[in-house]
Amino acid sequence: MTTAEIKSLATEYIINTYGDRSLAFVKGEGPYLWDADGKKYLDFLGGLAVNGLGHGHPKVVEAIREQAGNVLHTSNLYYIQPQAELAKLLIDNSDMDQCFFCNSGAEANEAAIKIARKYAKDNGKTDSYEIITMDNSFHGRTMATITATAQPKYHVGFEPMLEGFKYVPFDDLDATAAAVNSKTCAILVEPIQSEGGVNIPSAGYLQGLRELCDQHDLILMFDEVQTAMGRLGTFFGYQSYGVIPDVITMAKALGSGVPIGAMLAKQKVADSFVPGTHAATFGGNFLSSAAACATVKTILDENLAVNAVKMGNYLAGGLMELKDKYPIDEVRGKGLLRGLVLTENAKLLAAQCIENGLVTICTNDYVLRFLPPLNINTAHVEEAVNIVEKSMSQVY
Ligand SMILES: *Cc1c(COP(=O)(O)O)cnc(C)c1O
Repeated sequence: MTTAEIKSLATEYIINTYGDRSLAFVKGEGPYLWDADGKKYLDFLGGLAVNGLGHGHPKVVEAIREQAGNVLHTSNLYYIQPQAELAKLLIDNSDMDQCFFCNSGAEANEAAIKIARKYAKDNGKTDSYEIITMDNSFHGRTMATITATAQPKYHVGFEPMLEGFKYVPFDDLDATAAAVNSKTCAILVEPIQSEGGVNIPSAGYLQGLRELCDQHDLILMFDEVQTAMGRLGTFFGYQSYGVIPDVITMAKALGSGVPIGAMLAKQKVADSFVPGTHAATFGGNFLSSAAACATVKTILDENLAVNAVKMGNYLAGGLMELKDKYPIDEVRGKGLLRGLVLTENAKLLAAQCIENGLVTICTNDYVLRFLPPLNINTAHVEEAVNIVEKSMSQVY
């Protein structure tokens, strides 16, 4: 089918939650994509931080093929070997003790919200259920996670929101401290807010949240759906900041595109989920766990977190060189989560980049966001920067 044919079919039969998507990709290889009309693109969006290994990584493809030929799914009524192996891999590479598996970031955060409430009740704080979250956060699209997401645009039309969330500005320790009361049970925060505009925490902020939680016996929960899996330069984002949370949620890059999410917790918190308290039919089934095991092993074996630092710095440097000539406010981010902050026409620039063969996204109306695969090389970065420069010369 051509792009036009795919678009016509999708427009007629799919509920229009994504607007005009304009492109239809049909093939991927490494950091490249091809659309239905045969045009090639450099993919610096990485499926919204999902394709950490690029497209068609042989280790992931082989793991999926082998697992598919064996057994795809049996349910969580039975032990699942690759799920157990995946759990060990994640625990061995974190400060957490046990995992729960689900299918998405929103579901991982649902599990975190539930376990935080349960932990408070299990520990004598029967009236503590409030969770503090941050303005401009993003935690998912279920009712609980849009409520956790402190951005009014995600709430409109879906009221009433779930009870028990309190919002404070990101990076503001005083406001957070002031919001804590006897009803508070947890704080949920992204180490870096990605959807919110690539917002970086100040030095000491995450540490301050940790201290606040210790002071008031609250659970500190990091939403690492986007920042885990090596993207910030360490396997988990929290390891870049030296602050250990009690709960971590992850998803996106975990299965390289096969849907899987996970909530990791310290033992004392993990103990609040017991048989019957939580479950997911597909959570960590054979297929997604096999894909995730291959993905995690590859990121670790090939030291891709280290490559993310090198390539991220190289990308930031290349973009900074455009600052004198074009309306760039700043380049911010860490590892391979980078935002080019513009003072005008960011949406137009994103569209022009795509026209010129670079896939990226405009976030929050003024930030061009880059989430490329972690295994890119300097030639890919140079290609991306050249396309951004060419696009800027056309837009500005
Ligand atoms: C994408 C994202 C989510 C939601 O994940 P889904 O898989 O879309 O449900 C939650 N938190 C963060 C930080 C994300 O980036």
